[in-house]
Formats: sequence, C-alpha cells, structure tokens
Amino acid sequence: MTQKFTPDPALKTAPEFKSDEYVPLKKEVYVKAGEDMSDKGYQEGTLAGAIRMRMTRDNKRFWAGDNISDYLHDSDKEHLISEATLAFEKVLDALLIDRENDPNSRGTAKRLAKMYFNEVMAGRYEPAPDATAFPNDSTDRYEGMLVVRSELRSMCSHHHQPVAGVAYIGIIAANKLIGLSKYTRIAQWCARRGTLQEELCNDIAREISKATDSENVAVYVQAVHGCCENRGIMAHSSLTQTTVLKGTFKDDPHTKKEFFDNIKLQQEFAPR
Ligand SMILES: [Zn+2]
Repeated sequence: MTQKFTPDPALKTAPEFKSDEYVPLKKEVYVKAGEDMSDKGYQEGTLAGAIRMRMTRDNKRFWAGDNISDYLHDSDKEHLISEATLAFEKVLDALLIDRENDPNSRGTAKRLAKMYFNEVMAGRYEPAPDATAFPNDSTDRYEGMLVVRSELRSMCSHHHQPVAGVAYIGIIAANKLIGLSKYTRIAQWCARRGTLQEELCNDIAREISKATDSENVAVYVQAVHGCCENRGIMAHSSLTQTTVLKGTFKDDPHTKKEFFDNIKLQQEFAPR
C-alpha cells in the first residue's frame, strides 16, 4: 500500500537547497585549527579567541606587557574593538551602571575598547616604530654619550591604573645613529602596554640596543603610579625609580657617573 505524499504548504515556501550546496552563515566563525590543542578555558567563536588559540599553539607569551603585533592583521583591530565593546558592556552591567539612561555612560563601553587598543595598550598591538639608522662610521664619527629624556605614559598590569613619568635613555654611540625622536617613540611603544616599571626599564634598554646596535645602553625611569595614588596606600607623592645599566655603563664607574650627572643637568633644565 502506498501513501500519497502531500507537501506541507508552510514548508513549501522555504527555499530548496541541494544537500551538497554550501550556504554561508553570513557571520564569521572562528574554529580551532588543531585537535590536540587545549583551549585552556578560552572562549571560541570570537576573533580574540582564535588569536589566543594561535598564540597558545605557538607558545607565544601574551602577557599584558608583550607585543603581539605578529599575530594581528591590520583589519583585525576594528573587529577586536567590537568584541571588546560587548565585553565592556557586560562589565558595566555587572557594575550595575545604567548605560542606557546615564548619558555619560552611554557609549562608554566602546570608548573603553577603543582606548585600550588605540591608546593605553597600543604598544601591544602595533609593530615597533620604524627607526631609520644613519651610519656613524666616518673618521670624525661621534663617540660620546647621548642622553635623551622621554616622557612616558604607561599603565600597571595589576590594576590598570596610569603610570606617568620620564625615561632618561643613555647610549654610547656605535656604528649607527637613529633620529632623536626615535628614542622617545621606542620608549613610548614599550610603555603603551600593561607593565611593571622594572620590566618597562628592561624593555626600553633592549629595544634601544636593537635599534642602535649599541651594547652600551642605560635607562633610568622615574614615575608615579596611579595604583599607589588613587587607591591602596593613597600616597600622593610617591616616586618609583628604576635603572638598567648595560656594557660600559655597568662596568665603568666614570661612564655611570657621567650618565647620572647628565640626568641631573636634564632635571635642572626641565624639572618634572
Ligand atoms: Zn598597580
């Protein structure tokens, strides 16, 4: 006995797909690339999740003070800002802040997301500033010490509070020189992340050494920390000083003294 098939009129209007036809979901979906990877509790399905997965797979460290620009494409930033905006909206909701009716809190989630990616943590997402080097190898080459004062704005990794200060960068000129503004650009690129001041001092010394080919580098940073001023001990005049000395700055007391004498002169010239 056969039964006559009567199509359901409601279903009849649905578009007919062949079973092997590819139908785009019209939204981006990011999936795990390998089966043996542990996601360590990270959310999948977001671009940030996919990037974190790639870094985990490569054993690439992505701490608050690390630069991860190798893992980002230019077009990723806007997408990541959108994802962070949704996440900040959840944070504001959890803090019971009325982001719909409070005119000052409307748009705050987006402002925060943009601020993190484009300003306070920009040094994590942008590649190193281009520091064109000029040869310093003629007979009358400059062999002296160079000390550059760079204003810094950073953020502590622990509390995401502002760190404001100044770095004094000293080098003994090697076979190449970089433009004076590049010292500050490099220092700010290192600072625009979540850092510890000790770590920041090391990062600046390493990057300046890389850009100038000089092994003789010194960095002195003095900064005030929002996490000590705005909260916790509320110490409004606390100042933290850190120094990294490499090569002759470390080994030769005269070079070290000249560096700190130069800093004193700089501070008389422009007290902070
Ligand atoms: Zn802190």
